[in-house]
Amino acid sequence: MNQKIKVSKFGGSSMKDLTAMNRSAQVVKTHETQIVVVSATYGTTNRLLDLIDQSLKQDWRSIFESILKIRKRHLDLCLELNGHHELSKSIYSLIDELVTLCTGIHYLKECTPKAKDRLQSIGEGLSSRIFTHVLKKNLPDKDVSFLDVRDYIFTDKNFTKAVPLTEIIRKNCIPLEQEILSNPNKFYVTQGFIGRTIDGETTTLGRGGSDYTASILGEALNAQEVQIWTDVAGIATTDPKICKQAQRINEITFKEAAEMATFGAKILHPTTLTPVKRKGIPVFVGSSYEPDAPGTWIKEKVNEQPLVRAVTIKEGQCLITLSNPDMLEAHGFLANIFSVFEKHDVSVDAITTSEISVAMTIDMKSVDNISFTKELERLGSVTYEKNMALVSIIGNNINHTPGVSLKIFEQLSNINIRMICQGASIHNFCVLVAQEEGKKAINNIHKTLIQ
Ligand code: ASP
Ligand code: MG
Repeated sequence: MNQKIKVSKFGGSSMKDLTAMNRSAQVVKTHETQIVVVSATYGTTNRLLDLIDQSLKQDWRSIFESILKIRKRHLDLCLELNGHHELSKSIYSLIDELVTLCTGIHYLKECTPKAKDRLQSIGEGLSSRIFTHVLKKNLPDKDVSFLDVRDYIFTDKNFTKAVPLTEIIRKNCIPLEQEILSNPNKFYVTQGFIGRTIDGETTTLGRGGSDYTASILGEALNAQEVQIWTDVAGIATTDPKICKQAQRINEITFKEAAEMATFGAKILHPTTLTPVKRKGIPVFVGSSYEPDAPGTWIKEKVNEQPLVRAVTIKEGQCLITLSNPDMLEAHGFLANIFSVFEKHDVSVDAITTSEISVAMTIDMKSVDNISFTKELERLGSVTYEKNMALVSIIGNNINHTPGVSLKIFEQLSNINIRMICQGASIHNFCVLVAQEEGKKAINNIHKTLIQ
């Protein structure tokens, strides 16, 4: 593996305004990351999604007002930058595209996933063009260019949650890799979150997907490291908003970090680590607001592997219990249940089974899908318990260490545990509690098992 290319990614908070952008540009300068992936400016993706909603439901006047706000914010940045005429021209043309898309959605009263992706992609289109100019100003003696990531990140046609086509991406990135390696002055700014199908349609990788883009490019370019810059200096042992004693983690393995992301830690998009992990490329998570703070390294191998590293919470869970006496000694029953989940694209977070019943937790919103619940109810008697939270204790060798469960349960002695999941992963021990007990559970566990 070559040891040269570094990929950095800056999230929405690092693209918030010109001050944040200049700070991010200085980070690029210090670390010489030749590939820079950016998210939309802070809050813009949410605004674009609201705009879709408005286009479907409201009058043209209010739709246009919202478009003007987005336009103003980005044109103001160009003005502050003393940006080129070329820059504002590119912003205007993206806004024109936005107007056209909203008009279509408004008249048809329909927004297909394809249209949604095209519209969402405008956020990253705007920020990346502006940041290219910011970086040019901060790195006057370097050769900084804009790069359309859609020429590299090819995906399938699963709009709004597209899956990257790894082989094709790798092939496309070979010339880029060679170009960058042969010219240390070459810097590229590109978009996170978006991709393109083979037919040329714009796709997105799912909310928060810019981390994933950085990881995909890191793998395809054989990067030395991938840096994720956000507004918190690294990954913490738990959510600092819930527990004041949360501590920064210095180093963590890919596997533990992936469990954390899947089970509620908001620091990384859950699929982010898959590409970098395949090549063992280390990932640094730091804050562009405190670029000198130590941050967190995610790696294949780390020095310390504590029994309990972190405790996470995933709220908004619904516990579904499905019972049917016919399950007794029957086979294929679970397969039937899972085919319903598969058909409706609902993913299960935790599961336990007994002789004649199955308990599963899913995202509460999925229960609003009537055709899903109806189909499930055909398989047995079903109960739903909403507003639950999954509390996950994440660490190492959890299922091979005597006495761990006792320690965990001691901390939860005054909390009703509705379900327990343990055994499937050496990194995770999960309990389901009522959402209002979640905070107490986290604090108790953190106090004795981490602090
Ligand atoms: N802008 C996109 C979002 O807000 C992607 C990202 O920020 O990672 O989901
Ligand atoms: Mg983000």
